[in-house]
Amino acid sequence: MAKPAVISVIGSLNVDLVTRTSRVPVGGETLTSESFDIGFGGKGANQAVACARLSRTEKQALNGEASDVEVRMVGAVGDDQFSPDFLKSLRKDGLNTDKIKVLPGKKTGVAVIIVETQSGENRIMFCPGANYDVKVEDLVDDDASVALFQLELPLDVVLHNMKVARDKGVETIINPAPAIPLPDEAYSGLGHLIVNETEASILSGIENPTSWDKVAAVFVSRGVKNVIITLGGDGVYYQTEKRQSESLPGKIVPARKVKVVDTTAAGDTFAGAYSVAVAHWKAMSRGSDFDLDVAIAHANRAASMTVQKKGAQSSIPWANEVPEA
Ligand code: ADP
Repeated sequence: MAKPAVISVIGSLNVDLVTRTSRVPVGGETLTSESFDIGFGGKGANQAVACARLSRTEKQALNGEASDVEVRMVGAVGDDQFSPDFLKSLRKDGLNTDKIKVLPGKKTGVAVIIVETQSGENRIMFCPGANYDVKVEDLVDDDASVALFQLELPLDVVLHNMKVARDKGVETIINPAPAIPLPDEAYSGLGHLIVNETEASILSGIENPTSWDKVAAVFVSRGVKNVIITLGGDGVYYQTEKRQSESLPGKIVPARKVKVVDTTAAGDTFAGAYSVAVAHWKAMSRGSDFDLDVAIAHANRAASMTVQKKGAQSSIPWANEVPEA
Protein backbone atom coordinates (compact mmCIF):
# COMPACT_ATOMS: atom_id res chain seq x y z
CA MET A 1 0.00 0.00 0.00
CA ALA A 2 1.20 3.55 -0.77
CA LYS A 3 2.26 5.74 2.15
CA PRO A 4 -0.95 6.86 3.94
CA ALA A 5 -2.10 10.48 3.85
CA VAL A 6 -1.80 11.92 7.36
CA ILE A 7 -4.45 14.00 9.08
CA SER A 8 -3.25 15.72 12.18
CA VAL A 9 -6.02 16.85 14.54
CA ILE A 10 -4.63 19.48 16.89
CA GLY A 11 -7.13 19.98 19.66
CA SER A 12 -8.70 19.23 23.01
CA LEU A 13 -9.09 15.99 24.93
CA ASN A 14 -11.71 15.99 27.70
CA VAL A 15 -13.31 13.41 29.92
CA ASP A 16 -17.08 13.79 30.31
CA LEU A 17 -18.40 12.81 33.75
CA VAL A 18 -22.14 12.58 33.17
CA THR A 19 -24.75 12.10 35.85
CA ARG A 20 -28.51 12.08 35.31
CA THR A 21 -31.12 13.30 37.72
CA SER A 22 -34.84 14.09 37.44
CA ARG A 23 -34.13 17.47 39.10
CA VAL A 24 -30.91 19.21 40.13
CA PRO A 25 -30.20 19.50 43.88
CA VAL A 26 -30.61 22.88 45.54
CA GLY A 27 -27.73 24.42 47.54
CA GLY A 28 -26.68 22.15 50.42
CA GLU A 29 -28.83 19.23 49.23
CA THR A 30 -27.54 15.76 48.27
CA LEU A 31 -29.57 13.75 45.76
CA THR A 32 -29.15 10.19 44.56
CA SER A 33 -28.72 10.31 40.79
CA GLU A 34 -30.30 7.98 38.24
CA SER A 35 -27.01 7.06 36.54
CA PHE A 36 -23.37 7.96 36.08
CA ASP A 37 -21.18 7.49 32.98
CA ILE A 38 -17.67 8.39 31.93
CA GLY A 39 -17.24 9.34 28.27
CA PHE A 40 -14.26 10.52 26.26
CA GLY A 41 -14.71 13.73 24.33
CA GLY A 42 -13.47 17.22 23.65
CA LYS A 43 -13.98 18.69 20.19
CA GLY A 44 -10.46 17.74 19.15
CA ALA A 45 -10.77 14.10 20.20
CA ASN A 46 -14.29 13.83 18.75
CA GLN A 47 -13.16 15.13 15.37
CA ALA A 48 -10.09 12.89 15.45
CA VAL A 49 -12.32 9.89 16.15
CA ALA A 50 -14.57 11.00 13.27
CA CYS A 51 -11.54 11.19 10.92
CA ALA A 52 -10.30 7.76 12.04
CA ARG A 53 -13.67 5.99 11.80
CA LEU A 54 -14.58 7.60 8.50
CA SER A 55 -11.33 6.50 6.88
CA ARG A 56 -11.57 2.80 7.81
CA THR A 57 -14.10 0.08 8.50
CA GLU A 58 -14.72 -1.13 12.05
CA LYS A 59 -13.23 -4.48 11.03
CA GLN A 60 -10.03 -2.80 9.82
CA ALA A 61 -9.69 -1.00 13.17
CA LEU A 62 -10.42 -4.17 15.18
CA ASN A 63 -7.76 -6.09 13.24
CA GLY A 64 -5.29 -3.22 13.49
CA GLU A 65 -5.14 -3.07 9.67
CA ALA A 66 -3.65 0.01 8.01
CA SER A 67 -5.93 2.37 6.10
CA ASP A 68 -4.99 4.84 3.36
CA VAL A 69 -5.37 7.66 5.90
CA GLU A 70 -3.44 7.85 9.15
CA VAL A 71 -5.04 10.05 11.80
CA ARG A 72 -2.86 11.56 14.50
CA MET A 73 -4.32 13.21 17.58
CA VAL A 74 -2.13 16.05 18.79
CA GLY A 75 -2.99 17.35 22.25
CA ALA A 76 -2.36 16.97 25.95
CA VAL A 77 -3.69 14.98 28.89
CA GLY A 78 -2.59 14.72 32.52
CA ASP A 79 -0.81 11.77 34.13
CA ASP A 80 -3.96 10.95 36.11
CA GLN A 81 -6.30 7.95 36.34
CA PHE A 82 -8.23 8.99 33.20
CA SER A 83 -5.49 9.27 30.59
CA PRO A 84 -4.50 5.56 30.13
CA ASP A 85 -8.11 4.57 29.34
CA PHE A 86 -8.57 7.66 27.15
CA LEU A 87 -5.53 6.81 25.02
CA LYS A 88 -6.59 3.15 24.85
CA SER A 89 -10.03 4.14 23.61
CA LEU A 90 -8.54 6.39 20.90
CA ARG A 91 -6.22 3.59 19.74
CA LYS A 92 -9.20 1.24 19.51
CA ASP A 93 -10.66 3.67 17.00
CA GLY A 94 -7.49 3.35 14.91
CA LEU A 95 -5.90 6.64 15.98
CA ASN A 96 -2.21 7.30 16.32
CA THR A 97 -1.68 8.72 19.85
CA ASP A 98 2.11 9.22 19.68
CA LYS A 99 1.73 13.02 19.63
CA ILE A 100 -0.48 13.24 22.69
CA LYS A 101 1.59 14.68 25.52
CA VAL A 102 1.03 13.20 28.97
CA LEU A 103 1.91 16.16 31.20
CA PRO A 104 3.47 15.18 34.55
CA GLY A 105 1.61 16.46 37.59
CA LYS A 106 -1.25 17.83 35.47
CA LYS A 107 -4.89 16.79 35.17
CA THR A 108 -6.78 15.73 32.06
CA GLY A 109 -9.49 18.18 30.97
CA VAL A 110 -12.81 17.29 32.58
CA ALA A 111 -16.42 18.29 31.98
CA VAL A 112 -18.74 17.54 34.90
CA ILE A 113 -22.18 17.31 33.31
CA ILE A 114 -25.47 17.17 35.20
CA VAL A 115 -28.33 16.18 32.93
CA GLU A 116 -31.72 17.15 34.37
CA THR A 117 -34.01 14.63 32.69
CA GLN A 118 -37.23 16.47 33.65
CA SER A 119 -36.31 19.67 31.79
CA GLY A 120 -33.79 18.13 29.36
CA GLU A 121 -31.34 20.85 30.44
CA ASN A 122 -27.63 20.18 30.95
CA ARG A 123 -25.48 21.96 33.53
CA ILE A 124 -21.80 21.74 32.70
CA MET A 125 -18.69 22.67 34.66
CA PHE A 126 -15.66 22.48 32.43
CA CYS A 127 -12.08 22.38 33.71
CA PRO A 128 -9.63 22.54 30.76
CA GLY A 129 -6.69 21.05 32.74
CA ALA A 130 -3.87 19.80 30.49
CA ASN A 131 -5.50 21.35 27.38
CA TYR A 132 -4.56 24.76 28.77
CA ASP A 133 -1.21 23.71 30.23
CA VAL A 134 0.42 23.35 26.81
CA LYS A 135 2.95 25.85 25.49
CA VAL A 136 2.86 27.11 21.89
CA GLU A 137 5.67 24.84 20.75
CA ASP A 138 4.34 21.71 22.51
CA LEU A 139 1.88 20.56 19.87
CA VAL A 140 3.70 21.17 16.59
CA ASP A 141 3.08 18.55 13.93
CA ASP A 142 4.32 19.78 10.58
CA ASP A 143 4.62 16.64 8.48
CA ALA A 144 0.93 15.89 7.96
CA SER A 145 -0.95 16.43 4.68
CA VAL A 146 -3.95 17.93 6.45
CA ALA A 147 -4.17 19.74 9.80
CA LEU A 148 -7.56 20.14 11.49
CA PHE A 149 -8.05 22.68 14.28
CA GLN A 150 -10.81 23.81 16.67
CA LEU A 151 -10.75 26.48 19.40
CA GLU A 152 -10.68 24.41 22.60
CA LEU A 153 -6.93 24.99 23.06
CA PRO A 154 -5.36 28.34 24.03
CA LEU A 155 -5.66 30.68 21.02
CA ASP A 156 -1.89 31.34 20.80
CA VAL A 157 -1.29 27.57 20.52
CA VAL A 158 -3.85 27.27 17.72
CA LEU A 159 -2.56 30.31 15.81
CA HIS A 160 1.08 29.22 16.09
CA ASN A 161 0.33 25.72 14.84
CA MET A 162 -1.83 26.98 12.00
CA LYS A 163 1.06 29.14 10.87
CA VAL A 164 3.57 26.28 11.13
CA ALA A 165 1.25 24.03 9.10
CA ARG A 166 0.59 26.68 6.44
CA ASP A 167 4.29 27.50 6.07
CA LYS A 168 5.00 23.81 5.47
CA GLY A 169 2.30 23.55 2.78
CA VAL A 170 -0.01 21.46 4.99
CA GLU A 171 -3.70 21.85 3.99
CA THR A 172 -5.33 23.70 6.92
CA ILE A 173 -8.92 23.28 8.12
CA ILE A 174 -10.48 25.00 11.12
CA ASN A 175 -13.82 24.44 12.82
CA PRO A 176 -13.64 27.48 15.12
CA ALA A 177 -15.78 26.26 18.01
CA PRO A 178 -16.46 27.59 20.58
CA ALA A 179 -16.55 30.73 18.43
CA ILE A 180 -14.66 33.87 19.38
CA PRO A 181 -13.69 36.64 16.96
CA LEU A 182 -10.31 35.71 15.47
CA PRO A 183 -7.40 37.93 14.40
CA ASP A 184 -6.73 38.32 10.64
CA GLU A 185 -3.70 36.00 10.78
CA ALA A 186 -6.09 33.07 11.44
CA TYR A 187 -7.73 33.54 8.03
CA SER A 188 -4.82 34.51 5.82
CA GLY A 189 -4.07 31.55 3.52
CA LEU A 190 -6.52 29.28 5.39
CA GLY A 191 -7.62 26.34 3.23
CA HIS A 192 -11.02 25.54 4.71
CA LEU A 193 -13.26 27.27 7.26
CA ILE A 194 -16.12 25.10 8.56
CA VAL A 195 -18.66 27.00 10.68
CA ASN A 196 -22.29 26.56 11.73
CA GLU A 197 -24.75 29.46 11.47
CA THR A 198 -23.98 30.90 14.93
CA GLU A 199 -20.23 30.68 14.42
CA ALA A 200 -20.56 32.26 10.94
CA SER A 201 -22.36 35.24 12.46
CA ILE A 202 -19.96 35.72 15.42
CA LEU A 203 -16.81 35.38 13.32
CA SER A 204 -17.96 37.52 10.38
CA GLY A 205 -19.41 40.17 12.70
CA ILE A 206 -22.68 40.12 10.72
CA GLU A 207 -25.65 39.79 13.11
CA ASN A 208 -28.72 37.90 11.86
CA PRO A 209 -27.28 37.39 8.38
CA THR A 210 -29.76 37.43 5.51
CA SER A 211 -27.25 36.47 2.81
CA TRP A 212 -24.66 33.71 3.22
CA ASP A 213 -22.88 35.18 0.16
CA LYS A 214 -22.23 38.37 2.18
CA VAL A 215 -20.95 36.36 5.15
CA ALA A 216 -18.71 34.22 2.94
CA ALA A 217 -17.40 37.35 1.18
CA VAL A 218 -16.11 38.62 4.56
CA PHE A 219 -14.14 35.40 5.10
CA VAL A 220 -12.86 35.24 1.50
CA SER A 221 -11.68 38.86 1.75
CA ARG A 222 -9.71 37.86 4.89
CA GLY A 223 -7.92 35.14 2.89
CA VAL A 224 -10.01 31.93 3.24
CA LYS A 225 -10.05 29.70 0.15
CA ASN A 226 -13.11 27.54 0.94
CA VAL A 227 -15.95 28.69 3.23
CA ILE A 228 -18.35 25.99 4.43
CA ILE A 229 -21.39 26.96 6.51
CA THR A 230 -23.37 24.03 7.95
CA LEU A 231 -27.10 24.75 8.23
CA GLY A 232 -28.34 21.77 10.29
CA GLY A 233 -31.26 20.03 8.56
CA ASP A 234 -31.11 22.62 5.74
CA GLY A 235 -27.80 21.23 4.51
CA VAL A 236 -24.63 23.16 3.81
CA TYR A 237 -23.77 26.41 2.07
CA TYR A 238 -20.35 26.79 0.51
CA GLN A 239 -18.42 29.42 -1.37
CA THR A 240 -14.88 29.39 -2.71
CA GLU A 241 -12.35 32.10 -3.41
CA LYS A 242 -12.36 30.96 -7.06
CA ARG A 243 -16.16 31.10 -7.48
CA GLN A 244 -16.30 34.51 -5.83
CA SER A 245 -13.56 35.88 -8.08
CA GLU A 246 -15.74 34.79 -11.04
CA SER A 247 -18.75 36.56 -9.41
CA LEU A 248 -20.53 33.23 -8.91
CA PRO A 249 -22.82 32.92 -5.85
CA GLY A 250 -22.29 30.22 -3.22
CA LYS A 251 -23.99 26.84 -3.50
CA ILE A 252 -26.26 24.81 -1.20
CA VAL A 253 -25.78 21.06 -0.79
CA PRO A 254 -28.96 19.60 0.79
CA ALA A 255 -28.86 17.44 3.95
CA ARG A 256 -30.22 13.90 3.91
CA LYS A 257 -33.81 13.60 5.12
CA VAL A 258 -33.64 11.43 8.25
CA LYS A 259 -35.42 11.01 11.59
CA VAL A 260 -33.40 13.08 14.07
CA VAL A 261 -32.78 11.59 17.52
CA ASP A 262 -29.84 13.67 18.85
CA THR A 263 -27.67 16.13 16.92
CA THR A 264 -24.70 15.93 19.37
CA ALA A 265 -21.44 15.43 17.40
CA ALA A 266 -23.13 16.09 14.03
CA GLY A 267 -20.79 19.01 13.39
CA ASP A 268 -17.78 16.96 14.53
CA THR A 269 -18.73 14.11 12.21
CA PHE A 270 -19.16 16.57 9.34
CA ALA A 271 -15.72 18.13 9.99
CA GLY A 272 -14.10 14.68 10.21
CA ALA A 273 -15.68 13.35 7.01
CA TYR A 274 -14.80 16.54 5.15
CA SER A 275 -11.17 16.36 6.38
CA VAL A 276 -10.87 12.75 5.18
CA ALA A 277 -12.10 13.89 1.74
CA VAL A 278 -9.45 16.63 1.74
CA ALA A 279 -6.77 14.08 2.71
CA HIS A 280 -7.83 11.75 -0.14
CA TRP A 281 -7.72 14.68 -2.58
CA LYS A 282 -4.26 15.75 -1.35
CA ALA A 283 -3.00 12.20 -1.84
CA MET A 284 -4.49 11.76 -5.34
CA SER A 285 -5.10 15.20 -6.84
CA ARG A 286 -2.12 15.68 -9.15
CA GLY A 287 -3.17 19.30 -9.60
CA SER A 288 -6.94 18.82 -9.94
CA ASP A 289 -9.36 21.08 -8.04
CA PHE A 290 -10.92 19.85 -4.80
CA ASP A 291 -14.52 18.78 -5.50
CA LEU A 292 -16.50 20.45 -2.71
CA ASP A 293 -19.87 19.17 -3.97
CA VAL A 294 -18.74 15.56 -3.58
CA ALA A 295 -16.92 16.13 -0.28
CA ILE A 296 -19.83 18.01 1.32
CA ALA A 297 -22.46 15.54 0.10
CA HIS A 298 -20.35 12.74 1.63
CA ALA A 299 -19.92 14.66 4.91
CA ASN A 300 -23.70 15.30 4.98
CA ARG A 301 -24.36 11.57 4.62
CA ALA A 302 -21.88 10.78 7.41
CA ALA A 303 -23.42 13.42 9.75
CA SER A 304 -26.92 12.16 8.91
CA MET A 305 -25.96 8.85 10.57
CA THR A 306 -24.80 10.66 13.73
CA VAL A 307 -28.08 12.56 14.19
CA GLN A 308 -30.03 9.30 14.15
CA LYS A 309 -28.24 8.02 17.29
CA LYS A 310 -27.95 9.26 20.88
CA GLY A 311 -24.56 10.21 22.31
CA ALA A 312 -21.36 11.95 21.21
CA GLN A 313 -18.42 9.73 20.14
CA SER A 314 -20.65 6.66 20.25
CA SER A 315 -22.83 8.04 17.43
CA ILE A 316 -19.98 8.72 14.97
CA PRO A 317 -20.19 6.15 12.13
CA TRP A 318 -17.46 3.99 10.58
CA ALA A 319 -16.73 4.34 6.85
CA ASN A 320 -18.76 1.21 6.07
CA GLU A 321 -21.82 2.67 7.84
CA VAL A 322 -22.08 5.75 5.62
CA PRO A 323 -24.67 5.24 2.89
CA GLU A 324 -23.58 5.42 -0.75
CA ALA A 325 -24.42 8.52 -2.79
P1 ADP B 1 -23.33 21.94 14.62
O1 ADP B 1 -23.64 20.58 15.20
O2 ADP B 1 -21.86 22.23 14.60
O3 ADP B 1 -24.17 23.06 15.15
P2 ADP B 1 -25.08 21.66 12.32
O4 ADP B 1 -26.25 21.65 13.23
O5 ADP B 1 -25.11 22.64 11.20
O6 ADP B 1 -23.69 21.82 13.06
O7 ADP B 1 -24.96 20.18 11.73
C1 ADP B 1 -23.81 19.73 11.05
C2 ADP B 1 -24.22 18.78 9.96
O8 ADP B 1 -24.95 17.67 10.51
C3 ADP B 1 -25.17 19.37 8.92
O9 ADP B 1 -24.48 20.10 7.94
C4 ADP B 1 -25.80 18.09 8.37
O10 ADP B 1 -24.90 17.43 7.51
C5 ADP B 1 -25.96 17.24 9.63
N1 ADP B 1 -27.28 17.51 10.24
C6 ADP B 1 -27.56 18.31 11.30
N2 ADP B 1 -28.87 18.34 11.56
C7 ADP B 1 -29.45 17.53 10.65
C8 ADP B 1 -30.79 17.12 10.35
N3 ADP B 1 -31.82 17.60 11.07
N4 ADP B 1 -31.00 16.27 9.33
C9 ADP B 1 -29.98 15.78 8.60
N5 ADP B 1 -28.69 16.11 8.81
C10 ADP B 1 -28.43 16.98 9.81
